[in-house]
Parts: sequence; structure tokens; C-alpha cells
Amino acid sequence: MSSLSFHVFMDNPHTHTFTIKMHIPAMGKDVLSLALPVWTPGSYLVREYSKNINRLYCEDKNVGINKTAKNTWEITTNNQAIDIIYELYAFEESVRTCWLDSERASIIPAGMFLFIEDTPLPVNISFHPHHAFKDIATSLPMVNNDPWVRFAADADTLYDSPIEIGNHITQHFNAAGVEHTLVISGTGNYHIPSMITDMQAVIETEVNIFKHHPCKSYLIILNTSNTLRGGLEHLHSTSLIFKRLMFADRSNYQEFISLFAHEYFHLWNVKRLRPKALGPFNYITENYTTSLWIAEGFTSYYDDLIVYRTGLYAEEEYLTIVEKNINLAENAPGKKIMSVAEASFDAWIKYYRQNENSENSQVNYYVRGGVLATLLDILIIHHSDGKHNLDNVMRTAYERFYVNRDSGYTEDEFKAVIEEFAGISMNDFYRQYVFGTSQIAFNDILCHVGLQLENTLENTIESDLGITINNNNIITAVRRNSAGEQAGIYVTDEIIAINGYRYSNGLLASLTADAKTGDKLEIILSKSGRMHTVSATIQITDKVNYRLKAMDDANDSQRAHYAKWLLKNK
Ligand SMILES: [Zn+2]
Repeated sequence: MSSLSFHVFMDNPHTHTFTIKMHIPAMGKDVLSLALPVWTPGSYLVREYSKNINRLYCEDKNVGINKTAKNTWEITTNNQAIDIIYELYAFEESVRTCWLDSERASIIPAGMFLFIEDTPLPVNISFHPHHAFKDIATSLPMVNNDPWVRFAADADTLYDSPIEIGNHITQHFNAAGVEHTLVISGTGNYHIPSMITDMQAVIETEVNIFKHHPCKSYLIILNTSNTLRGGLEHLHSTSLIFKRLMFADRSNYQEFISLFAHEYFHLWNVKRLRPKALGPFNYITENYTTSLWIAEGFTSYYDDLIVYRTGLYAEEEYLTIVEKNINLAENAPGKKIMSVAEASFDAWIKYYRQNENSENSQVNYYVRGGVLATLLDILIIHHSDGKHNLDNVMRTAYERFYVNRDSGYTEDEFKAVIEEFAGISMNDFYRQYVFGTSQIAFNDILCHVGLQLENTLENTIESDLGITINNNNIITAVRRNSAGEQAGIYVTDEIIAINGYRYSNGLLASLTADAKTGDKLEIILSKSGRMHTVSATIQITDKVNYRLKAMDDANDSQRAHYAKWLLKNK
């Protein structure tokens, strides 16, 4: 069978530009359409990778090239084998974009390799590293034992296999019977032996949930950065990026292991157990699903829970995380108008494109999905009287929808698995909290594990008027339905004076320290250079500050279910 072959050159890394030569065999057609993906799986944003192609040409003047869309080219080959050459600019540091500098080349294949539309072909790639780069790491297999030549059987494998080239540290370790390679590119205050020990514990804990590891080997690519933190899941690997001097501090290090646990959990949840829309992928348009609250939210629930199960979070630390996530979810004013299902569907235009209106109009399907997973876990434990928990749902859904049939699930199919283990209908839960925006009855659910929330802000005044002011006295956020919004204050306004006092940092807090509801503040603002005087009326805050407390009068069953939730009777 014929294949496509690519040669990737990086001779001048300081220009952040790759040169790629693509060899296309004679295809039995006179005209072909070449395309570059617009997005990479796992990151639900049309990134327009083709904007990075500086130029695309063929040295053979008999070959016609006609650009037909932002990311497609019609090539007249006259049924001959041809070579297409293109330059690719790579200077956006993240786990979703290609990067080239004098220290490393990080390749996100969806952002680099063209494909022939409607004609899937296997791919061979020869890397021609800059002379200073000695190593390559990728889960793509070698050709003829040459590490610089790699093979992908199809586009889905290619686009799910990041490639790291440079002078990274390479460590091998075994976990759950699977060979793992950890590659670290960049300096930092990391301690590799303890990192590996903690990763092994995470891996074994996750395999214990699913009772199955789908890979023969697995690659972890870690880039260290000045400022960035993030990860992206792939079929047989993950790319992580983390601040280089944040590994020594305990809480930041816990966060790093939690990030790793998150991406590794995706090996099952989303890479294999997945909503119908997420595989096989369409690389040239958005792929819509209402289920990111499961794909990302459940993964966010499990990332910290797994770190707790390994012992790296103490029980108190873990409960603080649960409390923090509930507060984060409940303090987003957008929860009143957007459901987690809508947030999932609109990720492409909303979650990945935040602006000053986002807090007021959206929910975060990671955070709110994670909170719903917490509640579902507790409900399953309660209604099954401690026989089952969310682990049973994840394992069964993985077996049913991936191992047995390898196709995505629908919302209803996933819900049916939850109902199977809870033994009750989840219709109300879904109607109110997944597809609806009802206030979550937290205490009705948390009581099943002997916990309650107490809001320390209950009936207190909104002392900040719901506005955020930066060091230049400019408003950067205004909370929906706050006193500030109702007074007519908005983002970009400059605050000049309150009640006749020139504004400086701390003034608002001083003037509201003993204020009561109904009190008024006269505020002078500059809106685009024109002075406005507005009146804000002090009101009760709708913000919450929940404290998670153990019930003094919890009964034996509530205590037993708490123990089941946090696996305290292992
Ligand atoms: Zn994720």
C-alpha cells in the first residue's frame, strides 16, 4: 500500500520555522485536495493552524496549486508523484501548538501535517533534527529501528501522537505492568525519583478503577515553562507543561501530580470511553457534544480524588478541595443562565474564548461537572447502601461502550449506567442540574455522607458592590445583578471618587465597613473620558463562602457511606 511521507527540517530554530517536504505518491487521480486540521482533539477550539503556514509550493511547475479555503489546497498532479514544500511558523508555547526554538522542537501533529481529503493513507515521517538536538520522543513506532523515522497507520494515530525533539531527560519505569517513558524538557526544581514514585501510584490507582490498561507502552512528555500550566491527553501519551520552579513547594507539587492524574485518567475517560461526537474526529470543523461535563468534569473530579487515594492529599486537604470546587461553581453568576450541557456544547465559542462577560454568562464544565460527579458518587453510594460508587459506573461504561463496541455513548446511555448502579431514576437530577440551571440542593445530598455546607456570607452585605477594580482604578469585572451593575458601572470604567473622596485602593472597603442594606454611595466614574455620577445601593450579597462541616449527629449509615466515599475501609 502506498503511503505519504514527510521530511521535517528545523535548520534555523531561532526563526521558529520548520520546513516540511511532503511526498505524495501517484494516487490515480489528477486533482487532490490537501487540508490541515483546524483543531486538535482534547482542546475544543478552532485554532486555525493553517495561519502558521508561511508559504506552500511545488518546485515542479507542471503541478498546479490553488488555495480553495483557509486550510485547503487543490493540487493538480496529473496523476504523478509530487513533492509539496511548506514552511510552518511555530512560536506559541502550549500543549496544543507547535513550538521550535534553540532548545527544543515540540510538535503537535494536527498543527503540522497536511492530509489528503477523502483518501486516508499511512504516513512515514523522517525528522532531520537541528545539529544541537540529540533525542526524539513520541509514541509513533520507529521504521527500521531508526528513531528519526516514524510511522502512523492513519491520521487519527498521527494526530494523537505529539513529538518532542531536543536534549531532554529520559527515564523509563514500569507501572501496572506497562512500560512508561518520562521525558522532561527544560530545567526546574523537580525531583525525578519522587515524581516517578507518585506517578506510579497514580497509574496503579487508576488501573484499579478500570481493571484494564489499554496501552502496551505510554509516554509522558513534560515541558517546563516560566508561566504555563496545562496538559493534553493523547491515545498513548500525554503532553504536560508546568512552571519550572513550582515542583518543590508541596501544594504546587500536589497540583502537578493532580494534573498528571487528570491527563492519565483521560486514557480511559474521553480517549476511549467517549461521547459519540468525539471519535472518529472531523478535523476540519467543530465536533459538538453536550457531554464534556462527563469527559472533563468527571476527569476533574477523579484527578484530585485519585491523588487523595494515593495518600498524597490528606483527608482534610481533600475535603478542602471539595469545598473549594463547590464555592467556585456556586460563585459563577453564569450558573443561573447556562447548564453544564450547554457549556459543553458551546465550549468552542465560549469556554475557550473567555472575555469580561464570561463569568456572568457561562459555567465551567470542568468545575461544575466535577461537582456533579461528586454528588453522583455520593448518591450512588447512598442509594446502593454502600455497595457501589462512581468507580462501578466508569468501569462498566468503559467495558460496555469501548471494550465491547468501541463507539461513543449518548447522554442517555451514560445516564442509564449511573441509574443501574444507583438503582433509582436520575431523570430529576439530569433535568435540574445537567440540562437545567436549578439551584443544587447540596445539603440534601451531602447529608448522605454526614456532611453539610454552611454559608458564612449568608445575609451579609455586598461590600465590594460586585465590582473588581485593578491597580489603575479601572473596573475589570462586574458581577451579574450586583449593586455595581445596577448602578450602571461596567468594565473599563475608571473609578474617580466615592462619596466625595478621591478614589484610592481600599476606599470602597472603608466606606462599606459598617454599611447597611439600602445605604447609597455616590460614585464618580470616567467612561471613555467622560464623567458620570452614579448611585449604588448596598444590598445583600449573592456570593457564597461555603464551609464543609461534619454533622455532629451523623448516624451509622451516614458514617459508613462517608467511609465508602473516601475508601477508608480498604
Ligand atoms: Zn481534561
